[in-house]
Amino acid sequence: TMAHSKALLVLENFIGGKFVPCSSYVDSYNPSTGDVYCRVPDSGKEEVETAVKAAKDAFPIWSSKSPLERSQILNKLADLIEHDLEAFAQAESKDQGKTITFARTVDIPRAVHNFRFFASSILHHVTECTEMPTMGCVHYTSRAPVGVAGLISPWNLPLYLLTWKIAPAIACGNTVVAKPSEMTSVTAWMMCKLLEKAGVPPGVVNVVFGTGAKAGEALVCHPDVPLISFTGSTLTAQRITEKSAPHCKRLSLELGGKNPAIIFDDADLSQCIPTTVRSSFANQGEICLCTSRIFVQRGIYSEFLKRFVAEAKKWKTGNPSDPTVSVGALISKEHLEKVRNYVKKAQAEGARILCGEGVDPLALPPGNQKGYFMLPTVIAEVKDESCCMQEEIFGPVTCVVAFDTEEEVIKRANSVKYGLAATVWSGNVGRVHRVAHRLQSGLVWTNCWLVRDLNLPFGGMKASGVGREGAKDSYEFFTEVKTITIKH
Ligand code: NAD
Repeated sequence: TMAHSKALLVLENFIGGKFVPCSSYVDSYNPSTGDVYCRVPDSGKEEVETAVKAAKDAFPIWSSKSPLERSQILNKLADLIEHDLEAFAQAESKDQGKTITFARTVDIPRAVHNFRFFASSILHHVTECTEMPTMGCVHYTSRAPVGVAGLISPWNLPLYLLTWKIAPAIACGNTVVAKPSEMTSVTAWMMCKLLEKAGVPPGVVNVVFGTGAKAGEALVCHPDVPLISFTGSTLTAQRITEKSAPHCKRLSLELGGKNPAIIFDDADLSQCIPTTVRSSFANQGEICLCTSRIFVQRGIYSEFLKRFVAEAKKWKTGNPSDPTVSVGALISKEHLEKVRNYVKKAQAEGARILCGEGVDPLALPPGNQKGYFMLPTVIAEVKDESCCMQEEIFGPVTCVVAFDTEEEVIKRANSVKYGLAATVWSGNVGRVHRVAHRLQSGLVWTNCWLVRDLNLPFGGMKASGVGREGAKDSYEFFTEVKTITIKH
């Protein structure tokens, strides 16, 4: 349209090793200015069809390479992304609204690490073998890549989460068709430019850009894509499950959370408070693992609140490229409205807003006046039944409530539909173990947050997902196992 200046960045699909233009595009916004700055292909069935064909054609050669050959290519790709780390970080910050500091220290280093990690782990798997001497038999298992993997990723950690899927999928010998979020497609497109140089053969990694309803659904419904790895919302996962059911597809679903922090009166608050501020507000609260319900034992409740709010107020909100800023812009105008509405609802229900939205002034630099910013917001005296305590808000909003006993807090922490991540703070090792065992949560961090060993399973219970990802788990998901019996 006329409003689009010539300087717009225009992305192209990457299919069969080539960039190909699309016949129509969707706008992508810079969340910190509110300007359209990029056009993303609005792909549909046709583009997905071409990409799946390219991936199918590349499968025989790629799947017959040795793990070592694939490993070397993944390592090369990791080096190339790392070489351009600053450019990737700048692009991720501009596209997503996150701070440049977060993109530089978390998103892009992790994307690099994802490739290195699976380049290494693919070399270390062993299969099973059992013997049956009385029958004269040995049994063993063998694993083979499945085929064309469909990978669908969200907007909050764009390259980080996409590469967490691409790396294990291709390390195992699959070829892929990936669809990043239409709101954050730029870094995936930048990565495509490095594939040839890394030695990834044409057709092994194809990226089709576009919306979930069009491009995403075409991928989910494609009969030649036997597995879908999806990270995103629970609602979309339900739709994907329905749409893929006629084909009996293998699904890995990493979904939303409503993560509790449980803080006992013997917790080390000097560690707990800054970490819980970080677990609540890192990346604007737009991480599936972010804390959004804080249960504090009654004896320390008022002291905790006072210190927690003081710490939250230290987090500066503003221009994401300012290195002193900790809270950048939210992903979109619609999302900002949705998050703000939760705060309004809490207020209407009689909860107290202790800092942030509607309470403190938000001063933004001139260039960011139309950006989608919101201050870190702390809500107290909110009921467990409130939507703010039940639904995923996915923004810089956290609720703090008091509890009395261990038994009570476990029950309350488990009383939501989600079960992704929890944190427990206590100096009592016995209590920490007891509580961790009883929480309905795929991950429990005690006296810390977001310390990850990629070897171990990652994923959620209940509405937070189906399946796990990790060294062994991703290997199992992206390969098909066969049991072979040999009689001698
Ligand atoms: P979303 O579900 O709206 O979109 C995720 C992806 O799915 C996007 O690429 C989107 O285009 C695509 N999509 C949408 N509709 C589709 C359809 N009908 N068929 C196929 N694809 C479709 O999620 P989002 O808003 O981008 O991301 C935020 C959500 O992701 C939050 O709920 C968050 O908790 C969750 N998340 C989970 C994890 C995890 O590991 N568990 C990690 C990050 C984010």
